[in-house]
Amino acid sequence: MNLSRLNLDLNLTLNLNPAPREEIKSKIKIKIKIKSKSNGGRPCSWAQFTSRIRRSILALATVLCLFSFSFPCLSAQSQAGAAKIDITPTRLPIRTAGNLTLTSVSNVHDHLFARALVLDDGTTRVAIGVVDSCMVAREELDKAKRAASQATGIPVSHMLVSSTHTHTAPAVYGCHGNDPEPEYREWLVPRIAESLVQAWRNRGPARVGWAKQDLPTFVHCRRWLMEPGYALHPHPDFTGCLSNRVMMNPGFANTNKLRQTGPVDPAVTVLSLQTPAGRPLAMLANYSTHYASAPSSQISADYFGEFCEGMAGALQKDEREPRFVALMSNGTSGDANCVDFTKANWVVNPTVVAEAVRAAALEALATITYRDWVPLVVAEAELELGVRLPSAEQRQHARAYLEANVVGRPTRSWEENYARETLLLSDWPRTKKLLLQAVRIGEFGIGAIPCETYGSTGLALKKASPFALTMIIGLANGYNGYLPPPEQFPLGGYTTWRARTSYLETNAEPRIRDLLTALLQKTRTVNPSQ
Ligand SMILES: [Zn+2]
Repeated sequence: MNLSRLNLDLNLTLNLNPAPREEIKSKIKIKIKIKSKSNGGRPCSWAQFTSRIRRSILALATVLCLFSFSFPCLSAQSQAGAAKIDITPTRLPIRTAGNLTLTSVSNVHDHLFARALVLDDGTTRVAIGVVDSCMVAREELDKAKRAASQATGIPVSHMLVSSTHTHTAPAVYGCHGNDPEPEYREWLVPRIAESLVQAWRNRGPARVGWAKQDLPTFVHCRRWLMEPGYALHPHPDFTGCLSNRVMMNPGFANTNKLRQTGPVDPAVTVLSLQTPAGRPLAMLANYSTHYASAPSSQISADYFGEFCEGMAGALQKDEREPRFVALMSNGTSGDANCVDFTKANWVVNPTVVAEAVRAAALEALATITYRDWVPLVVAEAELELGVRLPSAEQRQHARAYLEANVVGRPTRSWEENYARETLLLSDWPRTKKLLLQAVRIGEFGIGAIPCETYGSTGLALKKASPFALTMIIGLANGYNGYLPPPEQFPLGGYTTWRARTSYLETNAEPRIRDLLTALLQKTRTVNPSQ
């Protein structure tokens, strides 16, 4: 044969890890053309040809070797998995969290789940869980994380577990008239762990994407400035609040409401995981409405559960395939709910909210450009904050009030409730340590706060974030109550009143915001290849 006419094109496409920046992820094409040049285009011998091939392959191997030193995850593919575990209580009746007064339910409307996904970039692993619960304290979540860590090897510090904040799940954390259900709380911990472990076991090759779509329809500031004298005003000894100009959920017909006290975050933010072939694997969604008022007489995952199951129905095309799992996390909903009090006859229930959020999430999904590999970085830190404790005089007043008015029966009014809360806070420590966490998934950032965070805080965090898109998850990695910005305290209103659901120092919000911003920055600047 005439080897001089042999033109061997060797095109190699290398998917390189995006180190040090994802943007440099590129496709490198190496083209080797072997032509008989040394003999002036004349036919060369078979020996000459094979020698050149050997030299070319050697050169190519050297190039590959050099790249593999520079880019440790050569041709890497992200891995991901997801799972869900049923956490519906099996023993009824049971107290639920979320209502002001004692609430015990005997019926299940829809099942509760602990849902989880894991991500693995080849060197770093991250597990994210969302639990259908109103709030879960750090003690329980840490136990679940430790158990899952032992089974998977994923560090506890790389696990982010939050509560959806459904108000119709068993009481796991004591809230107003509903103290925890200790047996359910104990039963729940290994199930949260199992969701993380199963997600890890279900992992396989995955591509990753993220996007957002605004949905202002169902997120409205629920705190309204009122005409003087028209806001609720329980005794200041029991709330720690001397005056109240703000009222929560005043209603459409209330003509004494003036204006809302803060902005809201309308974003439906999604992290999407697919197989390399494009089959949906899992989704982590986030929206900043409080909940959607599922009837309090039944166990329900509220709109969070309905969104997840509906999304699975929309994306799971083939029932024979491993089940798609959606997770719906709570954003910054501390001062937001889904009711527009400027409009009459506003219809709200879990179904209408779930359908609207699902439609927005599907619109966001349609815009995603998926990456085969993204770097993962996690940073977390503890922050010690002061606790707003009642004084000795306030405790004494609360005790006398309860002995005179509430003996041997549950509390049933704001004033009775907050008198009880004043006593319950008596033995609390002067400070509490909070866990803050930032997760980097490529150019997508997640900030996790263990509080019911206001919309203004979420918007400020997103603005300060170094990432193109950021998700803020509330009620994450524990529960440390409402987080009003300092300027909200003088306005008063429910979420500023001192209780087990609102006790952090008045300067907690800027301190949390600053530290979480620093953590997000840290994950962005860390070189994921190291
Ligand atoms: Zn709440």
